[in-house]
Amino acid sequence: MSDHGDHPRLVGATEGSPSASAAVSPTAIAVSVRAHRAPAGATAERAATAMPTSGPLVDRYGRVHSDLRISLTDRCNLRCVYCMPEDMTFQPHEQLLSFDEIVTVARVGRELGVNSIRLTGGEPLVRRGVVDLVARLSTLGFDDIAMTTNATRLAALAKPLRAAGLSRVNISCDSLRAERFATIRRRGDLATVLHAMDVAEAVGLRPLKLNVVLLRGVNDDEILDFAAFARQTGRIVRFIEFMPLDAQGQWDRDRLVPGRDVIELISSRWPLRDVDGPTHLAPAERFAFADGRGEIGLISSVTEAFCGTCNRLRLTADGSIRNCLFSNEEHSVRAILRAGGGDEQIAMLLRRAVWAKFPGHAINEPQFLRPVRSMSMIGG
Ligand code: SAM
Ligand code: SF4
Repeated sequence: MSDHGDHPRLVGATEGSPSASAAVSPTAIAVSVRAHRAPAGATAERAATAMPTSGPLVDRYGRVHSDLRISLTDRCNLRCVYCMPEDMTFQPHEQLLSFDEIVTVARVGRELGVNSIRLTGGEPLVRRGVVDLVARLSTLGFDDIAMTTNATRLAALAKPLRAAGLSRVNISCDSLRAERFATIRRRGDLATVLHAMDVAEAVGLRPLKLNVVLLRGVNDDEILDFAAFARQTGRIVRFIEFMPLDAQGQWDRDRLVPGRDVIELISSRWPLRDVDGPTHLAPAERFAFADGRGEIGLISSVTEAFCGTCNRLRLTADGSIRNCLFSNEEHSVRAILRAGGGDEQIAMLLRRAVWAKFPGHAINEPQFLRPVRSMSMIGG
């Protein structure tokens, strides 16, 4: 594993003719993507200090939290095999936060230094009135309001969403082959999603990112196809490792495709340049094609945890604050809201939730227990 600093660097070397598609070999050679991202200020000294009651949302390890992921619903119109079963049970509507409640939490978060919001779910676009919610959130002064969506309903909503203040979208798309797309997502179709990408870009929801969950033996033979797609379209394709957050509990380490194998394969065809230094905050590790034609990303939550620079906080659709996807600890802001609590109480709950955050998840530790709530319930 090579050491590297903040400077861009080249990964891979050979230019050759592309194979139309190729699966990664489970025994692929390790390459020099970063092994982990160093925690900022994770010292015993800091851990011993008292929780601040003013200033930004900071945890015991000095990580300032400025990104809030808001799940609008646990419901979805698809049933992706890595996410939820056909007969998924959803929460009763009355348990979900109302838009007024969501806006209140977002406003308090903004006052505490949150500057970016991501709307997710479940599928955020199945929540009725989502455009109005975006319009309300956009008056609060966030730098960025993004959304992660399966895009089945995006084509019709892209323009009003953009007008309401949405900055950009990440679209989930796990295959570029129609039949396989339908098998993985169980419902929906590829053509609708590809069309939605065009519409989203046309109305200014840019840069457009694709989320691709790779499953070994299912779609890992499309890695080069996705890389070619990124080069042709300028869309940023992010390869996501399968995480132990599927509602069926069928996650298995052997089914995930490690990010470094992906980068090894792509860089053997098209040399890549590491875009960010080791201390950037985004979960995706970004790589640009060395010839300047596009960019890809890796979200290697399992094999290359990025906890050391995590700045994320989550609000579940039923009103709990979670400080980590992989933790079971939740802090109910709904209880405060529905008991008539005010901004100060909400602010203290946000502070406590952040302060309680562990230095990192323990997926790779023997004692790891998968979270009780799955990805679509938490808000991915
Ligand atoms: N429904 C929207 C969508 O699919 O884009 C937003 C919610 S979805 C839970 C958010 C992201 O989580 C998607 O990109 C999806 O592919 C990803 N995801 C879901 N289950 C996953 C799992 N077990 N491991 C890794 N990623 C997962
Ligand atoms: Fe729905 Fe998104 Fe889960 Fe697929 S990944 S089932 S689209 S919530």
